Amino acid sequence: MNIQNLIERHPLLQQLVALQPVTWFNPEATTLSEALPDVGLTAEDVAEASARLARFAPYLAEAFPETAEQRGIIESPLRAIPAMQTALSQRYRQPLPGQLMIKLDSHLPISGSIKARGGIYEVLTYAEALALEAGLLRKEDDYRELLQPACRALFGRHRIAVGSTGNLGLSIGIMSARLGFDVTVHMSADARAWKKAKLREHGVTVVEYEQDYGVAVEQGRKAADADPQCRFIDDENSRTLFLGYAVAGERLKAQFDQAGIRVDADHPLFVYLPCGVGGGPGGVAFGLKLAFGDHVHCVFAEPTHSPCMVLGVHTGLHDGIAVQDLGIDNLTAADGLAVGRPSGFVGRAMARLIDGYLTLSDQEMFDLLGLLHHHEGLALEPSALAGMPGPARVCANADYLARLKIGAEQMAQATHLVWATGGGMVPAPEMAKYLAQAKA
Ligand SMILES: *Cc1c(COP(=O)(O)O)cnc(C)c1O
Repeated sequence: MNIQNLIERHPLLQQLVALQPVTWFNPEATTLSEALPDVGLTAEDVAEASARLARFAPYLAEAFPETAEQRGIIESPLRAIPAMQTALSQRYRQPLPGQLMIKLDSHLPISGSIKARGGIYEVLTYAEALALEAGLLRKEDDYRELLQPACRALFGRHRIAVGSTGNLGLSIGIMSARLGFDVTVHMSADARAWKKAKLREHGVTVVEYEQDYGVAVEQGRKAADADPQCRFIDDENSRTLFLGYAVAGERLKAQFDQAGIRVDADHPLFVYLPCGVGGGPGGVAFGLKLAFGDHVHCVFAEPTHSPCMVLGVHTGLHDGIAVQDLGIDNLTAADGLAVGRPSGFVGRAMARLIDGYLTLSDQEMFDLLGLLHHHEGLALEPSALAGMPGPARVCANADYLARLKIGAEQMAQATHLVWATGGGMVPAPEMAKYLAQAKA
């Protein structure tokens, strides 16, 4: 690949290389009906995932008492953040009409991040298939049956492996260990010590690497390939993970209905999703499109040091290019977003359903973390703030809004939803360090 030619053809790459914050709205974004075939998955697939999670709910309520109040349904709160809206408008010197809200996946039970959607769903799918095949379970049964020694013994004869920068490992590790699986998490160098310690407390084997996420995944895959009893959970290509995330769409719609929030041509919804390899935001965006149709507009957010998805989609090279090919170092404090090469599956499946992309610096994430803590009393991890500049970037982009035929009247009735993807389990001393990195 000739990088110089590529940059000449795509001037946006100059800004990426210079680590400047960028905003790019994809002119090829189109309607759900046109782009649905790109995805290769359907509303029925998402409905099936939703039904599977409902079957597991009684088991989860019992195995994880913190989910009992929600009857074993792993879902996060939705909140308006009006003081933050005012603060953002001042910070970016940009009027922000409409209502700003936050989706607190940071506070999802079991693992405290968006990974509690996809990661747990994939482990449950595997466990169900094994138990059905062994004749230990029928789909009509009460899934609390899985707590019985016979099921645990079955899972104990199977292994699960995953490569992770931290949060996926937490989800897969905790869920697998609780079911009784022998589980190994291959952790990249940037993974936090407390996440490794927590996994070991749960009886998970943690293998540490001195390299980044790509290497951890590769090594995990290799170890699993050599072992026929081992299932490797493939963050870069898994349709199962993607469908677990996609269930968020109907769940959010129910929350909106309950809160009386309308989404239609006159009440557009903009959603800002932090993106690492792409499965989480891609799956959620797919679910949102199915739930709200063309009235929801999704924007992905990445660190300036790890802009892999915007690079892959903008050049059309997808997983054929990594940020390192441009000399970008993939070093960021944003756990889960330190990914140099995007998922080829998600980039190709969702390219025409994602309206735009933004990047922001680590310092910006820290500053926003401090701002949100100050104004709304919410403590999140840096990656969860990545979407926060989104409303100002959208409101400042007249060309994009004109292309969507969204005028001032609609913007005054818009909802901007920042998807806060993690931070609920960060220990207090770590959170104090994050807050200390915010400029007052
Ligand atoms: C994993 C993660 C993301 C992004 O999900 P991908 O599937 O990697 O794109 C965003 N935020 C946090 C906190 C995460 O852990």
